[in-house]
Amino acid sequence: MPESIPYGKPFIAGKELEYIRRAVELGHLSGDGRFTEQCQRWFVERLGCKHALLTHSCTAALELAAIVAGVGPGDEVIMPSFTFVSTANAFVLRGARPVFVDIRAGDLNMDDALIEEALTERTRAIVPVHYAGVACEMDRIIEIAGRRRLLVIEDAAQALLATYKGRPLGAVGDLGCLSFHETKNVICGEGGALLFRDRDFMERAEIVREKGTNRKAFFRGEVDKYSWIDIGSSYLPAELNAAFLFAQLERADEIVARRRSLCDAYRERLAPLEAEGLLSLPRGHPDKRDAAHIVYILARNAADREGLRRHLRAEDIGAVTHYVPLHSSAAGQRYGRTAGTMAVTDRVAATLLRLPLFFEMKEEQIDRTIDSMRRYFGLRPGGARPG
Ligand SMILES: *Cc1c(COP(=O)(O)O)cnc(C)c1O
Repeated sequence: MPESIPYGKPFIAGKELEYIRRAVELGHLSGDGRFTEQCQRWFVERLGCKHALLTHSCTAALELAAIVAGVGPGDEVIMPSFTFVSTANAFVLRGARPVFVDIRAGDLNMDDALIEEALTERTRAIVPVHYAGVACEMDRIIEIAGRRRLLVIEDAAQALLATYKGRPLGAVGDLGCLSFHETKNVICGEGGALLFRDRDFMERAEIVREKGTNRKAFFRGEVDKYSWIDIGSSYLPAELNAAFLFAQLERADEIVARRRSLCDAYRERLAPLEAEGLLSLPRGHPDKRDAAHIVYILARNAADREGLRRHLRAEDIGAVTHYVPLHSSAAGQRYGRTAGTMAVTDRVAATLLRLPLFFEMKEEQIDRTIDSMRRYFGLRPGGARPG
């Protein structure tokens, strides 16, 4: 019996424990120490944002974004239904209503052609989610937002080092949210960051992130004591997490490059199955360099997806489905509304299958996954590859 192939596996870059030890020796264990500072500087230098705040999750970054964006009761926020719950929750916690827009079959991102119809006089923000680390149509979204004076808050949880027309995602909209959850490409267990494209919102975000106090200004010597001046919560990660994360950020380019090359290998081996009409694959775009976060296929129908998933599982290969669309979930129905049909979202949710992908994956494991899929479809293993 060959070894099982997990869906994912956290990658350890190597210096995590050394940096955690250094953080312990420095004696500053709570947030906003030297490693947090180094991570934030990395975002500014590598992603071109004006400023960045490390948070304890992307969920926290989204919540912080929703607060500083001033979204409140009665407001509406445009987003896809095909996303993680935190995208919507952050705004529901402010009393706002998520308005779900359908996605496009080509890249599973919010269909920008449908945004206009979803707008009302209560719309405050648009939240593009870069699914699988592939950029949304940011020019179009920013153009609509600019015309209606809406904020653009990117959920770039899956998109570290992906670009749109050469610009790093997370730093394209007014605010951008990143995730370093253990399931993402670059990790620290639980972690995230809020990115600021320009100076707007920075000052208030620093306060909200520090329990609504001006503690940061106090440490900079700008005030002689700190106190409660705004609403807030605790959105800082401990230095131990920041130390872990910095070890990963130092190798982030390499991590994404390796995943991109695994994705290329998958694409080459999946193409013959698509040519046979057995499944369909996402469409790439020259303007979009993706983060290689997810390799997925769309099956012909729901039964085929389930058949394929079970077949792979029986051969110890971890293929998994993805989101229950928010518009069809209990809380999504209670707190949100749909704008137009969710036909593509529903079809994709029923037919999408994610294939194993992790830094240390070997090409043989991709071959085994593809051979298993070929057997499911009654094809000979490996047949289509040259050589
Ligand atoms: C992972 C993810 C989140 C949540 O990230 P956490 O760091 O776990 O809070 C939010 N949105 C999307 C699209 C995600 O993939």
